[in-house]
Amino acid sequence: MLVVFGFLALTFIVLMPAQAEARVLDGAGTASLENSPVEPVEPTAPSSGGQGDVSSSATSTGGGLGVPGLPVISSVVCLRQCVSSSRPTRGAIIAIRGKNLDRVTRVIFRSKSGRIATRLRTRSVGAVRVTVPKRTVRGYLSVVDSGGNRARSPREISIFPISAIPIQVFPVRGPISFGSSGSRFGAGRPGHIHQGQDVSASCGTTLVSIRKARVVYNQWDDGGGNYLVLRNIGTNTNFVYMHMLRRSPLKVGQVVGAGARIGRVGNTGRSYGCHLHFEYWIGPWQTGGKPIDPLPFLRSLLK
Ligand SMILES: [Zn+2]
Repeated sequence: MLVVFGFLALTFIVLMPAQAEARVLDGAGTASLENSPVEPVEPTAPSSGGQGDVSSSATSTGGGLGVPGLPVISSVVCLRQCVSSSRPTRGAIIAIRGKNLDRVTRVIFRSKSGRIATRLRTRSVGAVRVTVPKRTVRGYLSVVDSGGNRARSPREISIFPISAIPIQVFPVRGPISFGSSGSRFGAGRPGHIHQGQDVSASCGTTLVSIRKARVVYNQWDDGGGNYLVLRNIGTNTNFVYMHMLRRSPLKVGQVVGAGARIGRVGNTGRSYGCHLHFEYWIGPWQTGGKPIDPLPFLRSLLK
C-alpha cells in the first residue's frame, strides 16, 4: 500500500476515457446489459471546446438568446446502456441538460423516415431524461415546450450499437501511473507482502467498476482505509479497491455495471500519497481465495 513518491517520473501515464469501446461483447457481456450497464462518467478533462456552448442552441430558437423562459440545451449525457457518457445506444437513457427545460413536453430525434417524438421520463428546469427510441439515427435532437418553443442540441448525437458497450473498463478515470517496483504485487512490506498493485492518481479521481459485479464488502480498515470488494458476476473472481477518499455510496449486495462509479481515489488508511491499491483475487477475498498479480490485467484494459 506504500506509494513510491517517484511516480511523477512518467512510468506510464495515460489519459483514460474511451479506451475499451472497440471491444466486442461475448456471451457474458450480453448478459451484463440486462441490469445496469455503464453509468455516466463525466470527462475529467474535456480536451476540445464546444460542449456546453449554450449560445449555439440559440440558432434554433429564432434568435431568442437571452430571452427568459426559452428552452436551451447545453449538453446531452448518456446515463444507461451507454458506450460512454457521450455515446448512447438505441434504448439508452439520456439526460438533456440546459435551461428552462421544465416546460418541455416532447423530445424529438431523427430517424430514417423523419422525426420521432418520445415522451419524457423525468423533467426539471435543468434537465429532461428520455429513452432513445429504437429507430433513432445520428442527428440533432430537439426539445419542444408547451408554448411551442424549440431548442436544438449543440451537436449531432451519434447512436452506437449495443455490441459497442464495453464489458470491462479500466478502474481509474484519469491520468495514472503504475509506479516502480515498490508498487508491484509481491513487493516487500513491513510484516507482509504487497498483495496488489498500486495505481497512483490524483485524490478525487473517479473510480469505476471494471466489470458487472456485486458489492461484497464496503468497509473501513486501519490499513486499507475506505475499501470496497466487488465480486465479478459469473466468475469466481473478486476485485478490491483500497484507500478511497470516502466510503463508497454503494450498498452491500448491490449489482453495478461495467463503468459504474464506485468512489474516488484517496489516501485513507496506511497510505502515503493518493492512489488506488487494487487486488485481484481468484476465489473469495481473504476467506479461501488467492490474490494474483493484477498488473498484466490492468495493462490489458488500457489497450
Ligand atoms: Zn498497495
